[in-house]
Amino acid sequence: MNKTLILFIGMAAAASFGLAQGPANQPFQTHQLTANVYWVEGGGGNSGVIVGDKGVIVIDAKTSAAGGKELIQDVAKITPKPIVAVIETHSDGDHVNGLASFPTGLRIIAHENDKKEQELALASGGNNAFLADHLPTEVVTKAKEDVTIEGVKLQLMHWAPAHTSGDLVIYLPKEKIVFGGDILALNQPTALIHLEKHGSSAGWITSMKGMIALDSNVYVPGHGDVATKAVVEAKLEKAVNERAQIAELIKQGKTLQQIEVAVGDPPPAAAAGPGGGMGGPGGPGGPGGGPGGGQGARGPMFAPFSEVVYKELTQPAQ
Ligand SMILES: [Zn+2]
Repeated sequence: MNKTLILFIGMAAAASFGLAQGPANQPFQTHQLTANVYWVEGGGGNSGVIVGDKGVIVIDAKTSAAGGKELIQDVAKITPKPIVAVIETHSDGDHVNGLASFPTGLRIIAHENDKKEQELALASGGNNAFLADHLPTEVVTKAKEDVTIEGVKLQLMHWAPAHTSGDLVIYLPKEKIVFGGDILALNQPTALIHLEKHGSSAGWITSMKGMIALDSNVYVPGHGDVATKAVVEAKLEKAVNERAQIAELIKQGKTLQQIEVAVGDPPPAAAAGPGGGMGGPGGPGGPGGGPGGGQGARGPMFAPFSEVVYKELTQPAQ
């Protein structure tokens, strides 16, 4: 192997770890959005912190027990009020594993499929056993559910399977803020879809449209920086165009490999990382999470967007 190739693979690995944002061991950064709403960057997926009347609502809990602990410390720097509820945007380890450091008996809200994915990983011997006493305690089953926690009005939304089968978007109608989870992975060039968690590019497009229709210009992504509606619209438009291009190429009888080249998705070798990444170690995305979940040395956690679309359009209804 020549030096350039080694360097290239090293960069690809760094890019893969880059999903977690920023170098490891850097303290998380807290950003204030309104008088009572914050987001915390670092240690995996972005987290939300919403200070209510007498307690705090946290959205997503970081990748590890250490990350969860740091997040709790960051909340304590914002307010002395206790954390009373956690809302999960989806089941990936980099959003739920930090719950290990949260007290038990907490109110944990998630979409019903998010809970199923975590239970499935637990039942199949996945290494998320430490989450057994931190599974969701309340599940969302409808497309939209209104809840008020500590005086804070929240709308919990699920339009369709998108990043996973159990995505939940959290909208604050008073503050006009959207927490989009990894449907919004804004530090990535394309949409991230977990095929093994029954995500869907068609559902991702539906969900993006749903988010854009909300009265908001502040979108907190699962990864990347807070964005305006225009940024979210541009991300959607790019994906819609790419999906249409792929559909056309399929019609022309092109192979997946030809399509990947045509749309400029990175070839698998470039996307391969040494593990880690967005599913995070030890989460429902880990071993037992299904094909592609364990990553390890086997390649990328996420199939290229073109492969996701190709599979959906050529092998419908499984
Ligand atoms: Zn994530």
